[in-house]
Amino acid sequence: MRRISIFGATGSIGDSTVDLIRRDPESYRVVALTGGGNIAKLAALAREFRAEIAVTAYPERLAELRVLLAGTQTEAAAGPQALLEAADRPADWIMSAIVGAAGLPPGLRALRHGTTLALANKESLVCAGPLLMETARRHGATILPVDSEHSAVFQALQAEDLSSVERVIITASGGAFRDWPLEDLPGATLAQASSHPNWAMGQRITIDSASMFNKALELIETREFFGIDPAKIEAVVHPESIIHAMVAHNDGGILAHLGAPDMRHAIGYALNWPERRALPVERLDFVKLGSLTFRPACETRYPALRLAREVMAAGGLHGAAFNGAKERALDHFIAGRIRFTEMSDVVARVLEDLAAGSALSGPVTLEEVTRVDQIARDTADAALRLGEAAH
Ligand code: NAD
Ligand code: MG
Repeated sequence: MRRISIFGATGSIGDSTVDLIRRDPESYRVVALTGGGNIAKLAALAREFRAEIAVTAYPERLAELRVLLAGTQTEAAAGPQALLEAADRPADWIMSAIVGAAGLPPGLRALRHGTTLALANKESLVCAGPLLMETARRHGATILPVDSEHSAVFQALQAEDLSSVERVIITASGGAFRDWPLEDLPGATLAQASSHPNWAMGQRITIDSASMFNKALELIETREFFGIDPAKIEAVVHPESIIHAMVAHNDGGILAHLGAPDMRHAIGYALNWPERRALPVERLDFVKLGSLTFRPACETRYPALRLAREVMAAGGLHGAAFNGAKERALDHFIAGRIRFTEMSDVVARVLEDLAAGSALSGPVTLEEVTRVDQIARDTADAALRLGEAAH
């Protein structure tokens, strides 16, 4: 029986992970489940799987969690320190599916125990790629990518030599506004940005798909995880989301990974790795599909992609600044304080401000990443206040 924990169990990736576990309960012992504000869901999952511990990120919700877990063997805990302690619990496999930079500390802590980390939390790699990869190496831990594109690249690279790779192409659906005229984008509403044409995901990544900040994070994630030269990494818009990524070799051959847009593919692959097991996902019918189409991922429509190139070129703590600014800009868009297209303006402004000083010159340690993440958020807030004053 494998001991597994799910960080971010109450979210969209959490749902898909739980779905796979639920189909084969005999094979798993659930150690820790964590969530945010949906205490009822967290408690119900903990009861169903008889988890050893359930942790909410919010200390003020602990009493509620305790009440809902009364009479069970599950311990209740809350707050960032409790998340770290949950990551200390011995487990064979941990799903890292917290959204945002908050996923970094528990993921890092889990790696220090040499565990296998299934990494959906791409923000960890964007903020602290070298730290995460080096920690895994030092402690003999394995990181398995769960982002669909990166799982696809990982699979296409099995038994291949990285030195023969000419290009890695990750696909993008193009998000909610792929067919909108450019001049309409500033008027995009929160509801419009929160609906994805192909994938059912959490709200934040759905909006990031519409702005392509998600693809920007994924370009950086590709660079950090596989150690590939940024010049060899491309994004292409593929509205059908059937091909998830392609790896092009120096003999002109290209290996593509195809599958229905269902995160249980990538999660199941990471869960069963190094084996492949049957998964409950739709099988593709090429005749029904008819055609697969591609368009350029245009940097005018999606300035986030241009910013990602700058971040990859600069390296170091620029990723943490980029992600922190992006998270804050997204908060402001969700709160209705800035327009859809202003998110990339805010992030560009923060990167420019921080790169001009010495804020981003330190080493990629957890302390430095945490410091830069906070400065980036504060600078985004300051940029917004200046903008308001100018209106
Ligand atoms: P979600 O919003 O549906 O779920 C996020 C989870 O994190 C929830 O359990 C929530 O309670 C928890 N959480 C939120 N803030 C927290 C905090 N400050 N501290 C601790 N826990 C917190 O998000 P999601 O769509 O499941 O995405 C999770 C991660 O997986 C993200 O990094 C996302 O980029 C990545 N990812 C998601 C998908 C997808 O299909 N949903 C695909 C690829 C990658
Ligand atoms: Mg993805």
